[in-house]
Amino acid sequence: MPLNDQINARIIAVANQKGGVGKTTTTINLGAALAEQGQNVLLIDLDPQGNASTGLGITADRRGVTTYDFLVGDASPSEAIQSTTFTNLSIIPATTDLSSADIELISNEKRSFLLFDALRQLPMDAFAFDYILIDCPPSLNILTVNAMVAAHAVIVPLQSEFFALEGLSQLMLTIREVRQTANKSLRIAGVVLTMYDRRNNLSQQVEADARENLGGLVYTTVIPRNVRLSEAPSYSLPALAYDSNSAGSQAYRELALEVMAKDNIHLKRVS
Ligand code: ADP
Ligand code: MG
Repeated sequence: MPLNDQINARIIAVANQKGGVGKTTTTINLGAALAEQGQNVLLIDLDPQGNASTGLGITADRRGVTTYDFLVGDASPSEAIQSTTFTNLSIIPATTDLSSADIELISNEKRSFLLFDALRQLPMDAFAFDYILIDCPPSLNILTVNAMVAAHAVIVPLQSEFFALEGLSQLMLTIREVRQTANKSLRIAGVVLTMYDRRNNLSQQVEADARENLGGLVYTTVIPRNVRLSEAPSYSLPALAYDSNSAGSQAYRELALEVMAKDNIHLKRVS
């Protein structure tokens, strides 16, 4: 039995070792869009930079208990999880102390399983989450490995820029390694093109390359470059709350429907 069958929620790691490709923006807004669909969503900020936490208005004074405490077992889920102003959307916030997680004196074989173990403490009735989205740091370090070990699937944001596909093989290799060792059922939920500009030849070329090389893994939905998506975090809101009708918000709604539809297909196949 796959280890992850013990938990009800769909756990998705949002990962790409490149910085600035749209991981945090995707985690926040896909999370909000799923929440809008009535799904109970938990975001886990696994980046020491804490951008997802800041973007959802969890100010420094409200980060007494963080992902770090949750990972090392110093905080229970109920202590670590905070609600946000967006209905159905909760978060475990992060601070820079998370960057020391990989140098802590934790025995080697357990280091990759910290998040996995911490999530297994979620009492299913009290926190009936449908989706848990993990915002990974821009690195293939022990934190990202923790996310992949704990997750059912990975969503890979791909910035519609030159060199977008570069580095992807390294990411795939890490996923394969995790699959061969700690988490056999890990799969790639999909690759989502971000910051897409329809008028730009380069965007179209990156999309064509991605669809040719990655085939069905690439979501039909592409996320346009949209200034509302970049403004929203400074208002401590998901774009879906900051400007509900913006092209960016609509795109993440579409992506949420696609993610949910793919999940249903997957669930049908296993049952
Ligand atoms: P990552 O988490 O991968 O480092 P972010 O989500 O923080 O990437 O995005 C990097 C920057 O690009 C941020 O300033 C963000 O607001 C901006 N951004 C992300 N997606 C979009 C988009 N679709 N349109 C416009 N700006 C975007
Ligand atoms: Mg980020």
